[in-house]
Amino acid sequence: MIEQLEDVLHIHFNLKHFRTGQKEIIEAVIQRKDVIAMLPTGGGKSLCYQLPGYLLQGPILIISPLLSLMEDQVEQIKQRGEKNVVALNSSVSFMERKQILKQLRKYRYIYASPEILQIDYVIEALTEANISLFVVDEAHCISQWGHDFRPDYSKLGELREKLHNPPCLALTATATKQVLEDVRQILRLNHDVNTFIYSINRPNIAMSVEKHQTIDDKINRLQQIVHTLKGPGIIYCSSRIWTERLAHILFESGMEQVAYYHGGMDQEQRILIQQQFLYNQLNIVCCTNAFGMGINKGNIRYVIHFHFPSQLESYMQEIGRAGRDGHKSVAITLITDTDYEIPKSLVESEFPSYDDLSRTIHFLQNKHEPSFEFIQQWCGLTETQWRYVEHAYENLSNYSMDTEQIISTIWKKIEHRIVIKQQKLSEMCNWLRDEGCRRKKLLAYFDDILTDQVKNCCDACGIDFDCYHEEQNKDIEKQDLNWQEELKLIFGKASD
Ligand code: ADP
Ligand code: MG
Repeated sequence: MIEQLEDVLHIHFNLKHFRTGQKEIIEAVIQRKDVIAMLPTGGGKSLCYQLPGYLLQGPILIISPLLSLMEDQVEQIKQRGEKNVVALNSSVSFMERKQILKQLRKYRYIYASPEILQIDYVIEALTEANISLFVVDEAHCISQWGHDFRPDYSKLGELREKLHNPPCLALTATATKQVLEDVRQILRLNHDVNTFIYSINRPNIAMSVEKHQTIDDKINRLQQIVHTLKGPGIIYCSSRIWTERLAHILFESGMEQVAYYHGGMDQEQRILIQQQFLYNQLNIVCCTNAFGMGINKGNIRYVIHFHFPSQLESYMQEIGRAGRDGHKSVAITLITDTDYEIPKSLVESEFPSYDDLSRTIHFLQNKHEPSFEFIQQWCGLTETQWRYVEHAYENLSNYSMDTEQIISTIWKKIEHRIVIKQQKLSEMCNWLRDEGCRRKKLLAYFDDILTDQVKNCCDACGIDFDCYHEEQNKDIEKQDLNWQEELKLIFGKASD
């Protein structure tokens, strides 16, 4: 069995050895067991479902949260010579979709968004295709989003049953015990599901938190960082406007290969930026948290948080995009005292105010057609808020409640969600304010333990910043490019 797996690894992936955890996970998967697995960011989770693709009968369904992530994965699979892969998402036209669904069985890998998997004719086609493995990539999203903004995540357990219960593989790099339990419940997996948890420590990423007096100080420091540290790098901001502002400032200060990326840009533009960054035509991307999930770019040397995220899970995900090639990288968070206010208001603004909620429910109860444009104009809801209310309202449709009862039930739910999110936020803030070893505390949050001393660990333990400077790292660049990247650099992106 072991030799067989290693043969498949060699033949189809051109790799010699399994990384920590991969073989154990794959063995359980091909024995058709349900599995929840946690491996570090960049640890090679994709292989855990891609390799079984050559051993199981029937297509593997992979539920993936982001369109850009799906595109990236499909592209990478094709690059290694596997053509039987397809992505089903909102960017696929109705006609194309029909065409794909007609011949589903021929695919080895089918990527799909949770939303598309709610459509009846898609479910029907998948049921007939005999799915051999039901994969949920970035499974923490089930818990992070399923309750609020992407309710279709919370319906994945039901979906799996409709598909005749294929074995399940849920993968993540950042889940607390509580989140793993949430994932298990939502996917309707047994208590004794096989759970593989490996250390999620990333010893090659140094972590630094820098306190500054004013925003201008932060901007000055940012400029200094990007002009001295070896790139490529990602700069995370809390709002769209800041991504644009920082990209502009950096461009003006002489950084040419810089761009911004946020959810307000159209899809084509976003994919273009992502591709340019992947193929080293851009050195810096200033972005919101819409950028980067699961993106497999090996040579990112730094991740800067110009604004910190609202929970440690997101922090871990975002810094984890650095140093996937194993080379040393650094994560720097810049903070001023006033920053502590930003995520708090962001958490609250994800949900409607009581008055807006009340107006919306009255409106819905009057049997108006719930179009978002109308709701936005008359009830004052943002798209995110509307998605939340729409889902919560739908969930109550089977109960006989009057308008006031509906409002108070949803409002209680909102208050509860805000409390949970504020708790996560305060853990993030405590971590930033803490004085001890950051790595130890971050791992402890995920019930992980730091076993070995790490060189260049964190600002508390000490970091030698010189070793991240441009001059010190000239040699890395060449090693990082694989032949496809080199060709693309020489010939442009003719194939795209
Ligand atoms: P993640 O765990 O973050 O999803 P990926 O699956 O995207 O990570 O893998 C990250 C990188 O590691 C990819 O470039 C992949 O080819 C590489 N990789 C995965 N498994 C192995 C292995 N056994 N040996 C060498 N490289 C591997
Ligand atoms: Mg991944």
